[in-house]
Amino acid sequence: MPPLRKPALFKLFEDALRKSGLSFLRLSGAGEHPASYQIITGMGSYRLRVYIWNLTFGGRVTLPDEWRVQVTGLPEVGGRQRFVPEVGGKTVILGWCEDLEVFAAYDVNKHLGPLGGSPSIQIRQPALEAARINGLAPHFKGEEEVAFALKPAYLGSYLDNMADLHACGSSEEALAILEEICEDPESVDDEDIEDQVPEPRRYAVVSAKKALRDANFKDRVLTAYSHACAMCGVQLRLLDAAHILPAAHPDSTDETRNGIALCALHHRAYDRGLLTFDTGYRIHRNAVMERELVAAGLDGGLVDFQARLFPMIQVPPTRADRPASALIEQVNSMRGWEL
Ligand SMILES: [Zn+2]
Repeated sequence: MPPLRKPALFKLFEDALRKSGLSFLRLSGAGEHPASYQIITGMGSYRLRVYIWNLTFGGRVTLPDEWRVQVTGLPEVGGRQRFVPEVGGKTVILGWCEDLEVFAAYDVNKHLGPLGGSPSIQIRQPALEAARINGLAPHFKGEEEVAFALKPAYLGSYLDNMADLHACGSSEEALAILEEICEDPESVDDEDIEDQVPEPRRYAVVSAKKALRDANFKDRVLTAYSHACAMCGVQLRLLDAAHILPAAHPDSTDETRNGIALCALHHRAYDRGLLTFDTGYRIHRNAVMERELVAAGLDGGLVDFQARLFPMIQVPPTRADRPASALIEQVNSMRGWEL
């Protein structure tokens, strides 16, 4: 496959940001490399410098499953290229594998200083294939460096946690447990982490686990609901994977049947108790709350709001993915619904 040009690579990068739920502003001009972004998260924002190349296959007879980015076009000091990290922000080095539709992501801190002649950075195919299935997969490169392969929908989680993720490379125990977490975030509990990971890396592993669980939950729920709001059908990448029993509740789980895809409007309305659904999946509006809004003169848009709702939530075709009755009953009772 012919390599993609920089504008196509940055389009893939920006699509991945949107897919993983991050908002951004592009600060650098078209065609500039590295590019500069302001990434906006729920917690604030940060500056991100992005280096990106194609991943190309093979090269070395001894390592037939190797992919690499060939580093070109960086500023040179004394005839040797250098990465320049973003001061006070984050820097990411990415390779895009068009064949497998995954990124490789490298730790810039392991590639500071003057690079060698014809520099390249590698990753192995099994990591790329594992990321295609699990979303994120580590590849230990030796000398405390760990690279990651990731699906576009996991880019946001990777960026938010990149320091913690790459820090796992300096501890064998942390890396071993991170591999398990990437395969199945539910398979490792916090006690395993406490028992097996030495103190300085424990927090990094716990953060990585949380990020992966969130990304994994969102990926499963949105896929199950065909990326459409269960209450109104809106897509437009305005969707959240909402927990039916809120994540803060001790009984809440990340199973798909405790999730529902909702647009931003209906997610907020559901969490606020303006509407809900019963075990027969019928949608109910909160008549008491609506009357209060009318009385307060805060009912603008109410007619449209009511009109755009389906009579029933649209549930996934796979029975096991549909909202569990016990969870629906539990949350409706907690929110005071009498249905
Ligand atoms: Zn909706």
